[in-house]
Amino acid sequence: MTSINQNKAQKSTLKRPYCDVCARPQKTCICHCVTPVSNQTPIHIIQHPDETKQAKGTAKLASLCLSSSTLSVLSESKSVALSEVMHVLFPAPNANELSENDREEITAQGGLHILDGTWRQANQLIRLLESRSIDIVFHTLSTIDYQSRYRQLRKTKKQGAFSTIEAIYLALSVLDSADVAEPLIESFNQFLEFQNQFQPNREQN
Ligand SMILES: [Zn+2]
Repeated sequence: MTSINQNKAQKSTLKRPYCDVCARPQKTCICHCVTPVSNQTPIHIIQHPDETKQAKGTAKLASLCLSSSTLSVLSESKSVALSEVMHVLFPAPNANELSENDREEITAQGGLHILDGTWRQANQLIRLLESRSIDIVFHTLSTIDYQSRYRQLRKTKKQGAFSTIEAIYLALSVLDSADVAEPLIESFNQFLEFQNQFQPNREQN
């Protein structure tokens, strides 16, 4: 019995320590990449359950940067507080180009929702929201001239694919101002540099 207890004690001291703030193992803690953003338009990140353990994901980083934000996981079994009308950044066929004129309405109706996941996962999240009788107002950022750095981070074949933090940066650049949103890109750059330390053989392009 004593040896079992000793093993247990050893295991608990060997357990990987996690950061209380970003919830990552302390070795890969991203808190030093956080740059504060005082956003006026509230941002709500809706995360696909498969994204929660994704080390290259930027949703947690974005939520730590923003002064007004929430981060929730949505799945069939997990319900989150959802409003009757939701403004969602997603290029649905009936989406309107996001403009600064939308700010008042979006803010009055709770804020802008950003989906965190691959295209397939984002589509799943949309279907889940639609199944809950929510009135969704879709917004898109199709005319923005911005070269994503997302490809450095994760392989994606879809043109115009942004990481979650970049999507929030672009949306807040339109709704609040470029100055307000800019620290998100500083954070993203620091995050990319930090991630690259763990991928020494990554192909440079
Ligand atoms: Zn941390």
